[in-house]
Amino acid sequence: MMQHPYTEAEIQAVVDVMRNAEGQTQGKYLEKFEKDFAAFVGAKYAFGVNNCTNALKLAAIFCHIQPGDEVIVPAYTYCASAIPFGDLGAHIVWADINKDTWTIDPDDFERKITPKTKAVVAVHLLGIPCDMKRIVAIARRHGIKVVEDCAQALDCRIDGQHVGTFGDFGCFSFHAAKTMTTLGEGGMFVCSDDQVAHNVPGIRHNGLCAFQGERERYWVPAMSNVDEFLEDRWPQNFCLGEAQCALGSEQLKSVIANNEILIEQDRKIREWLKDVPEITFPGIVEGGRYVVHQYIMHYDGSKYGKNRNDLLDLLTQKYGVRAIVQYYPLYRYPLFQKKGCGAYDCPVLDAWWDNSFSFPWWCGIDDESMRIMCEGLIHAVKDLRG
Ligand SMILES: *Cc1c(COP(=O)(O)O)cnc(C)c1O
Repeated sequence: MMQHPYTEAEIQAVVDVMRNAEGQTQGKYLEKFEKDFAAFVGAKYAFGVNNCTNALKLAAIFCHIQPGDEVIVPAYTYCASAIPFGDLGAHIVWADINKDTWTIDPDDFERKITPKTKAVVAVHLLGIPCDMKRIVAIARRHGIKVVEDCAQALDCRIDGQHVGTFGDFGCFSFHAAKTMTTLGEGGMFVCSDDQVAHNVPGIRHNGLCAFQGERERYWVPAMSNVDEFLEDRWPQNFCLGEAQCALGSEQLKSVIANNEILIEQDRKIREWLKDVPEITFPGIVEGGRYVVHQYIMHYDGSKYGKNRNDLLDLLTQKYGVRAIVQYYPLYRYPLFQKKGCGAYDCPVLDAWWDNSFSFPWWCGIDDESMRIMCEGLIHAVKDLRG
């Protein structure tokens, strides 16, 4: 199974850059990709970066995180949702998930706000939209910045509005495992604030900029200038290459159609499993478009004294379906414990996670494979009823 079988047009887009581009980075393909992406998500500004972790780092920089600040992050996410904030000295406060939507619980987020809270990270994990209306309302009341981690949520929307445009900053990933990829790595940072947008290019590219005013000789005093863009920060280098951008513009064209396939696969699986009360799926906020980036389910076998591990033993050994278990609660990882962020109060996630699992998942699983997975799961669940 190839996760991203490239179309001829996508391959041609990269080859065109190799043959014809005047420069390999920071050129017209970046400009076009940013324009295409901003239009796709309906953002005022979009900036290509080399990965989503650094898009989140830009968000942390523009939240002006200082050592000792608190940032609220759902404990159920990929580690990169938290690391850029920790790197700037923030103390990570873990938010619990909502038991129905499996995304950050707005009530728990509000409970965990203190005078030190600087930002919240809303992660649209698995392609499930967070309850952005409530999260933004709570954050605004408390003067907290809202960062949206949309790494798994391209084309995920609420009432037609794309995620990443509800809060202050939206961060996207084009890593090989995501909905679209720019040759394995890549990301995008979106925002609507003019002042932030003015400063992003300098922070993204080592402070490089043009000298102001007319110059008699283009090389005097030097070819290009290097300046300060934020008083409290040094610039970084998060640039995305031209071949990646050319591919990105091309890949954007098939995102919606590919998601439609995943949404249809999800519909079929739910139909197959509708009479299996032990298995549940995420609930979606009203008006939300769940783009089914991963296929996570929850098993409740407590009535029979069984758990997820019993289920997966049967599923793999007896029925030949290799399930996956993902997104270990971050407070359980040594990294966060060693960095002083091991404390947590997330009873919902703690109980839920140990009974979650997922199917192998990609766009275009044939019906026969889906039938094998679903029937295997139904049989395994029934076996465990005894
Ligand atoms: C993949 C991912 C990231 C990091 O993306 P990169 O482009 O690999 O840096 C961040 N958050 C979530 C939820 C992700 O799935």
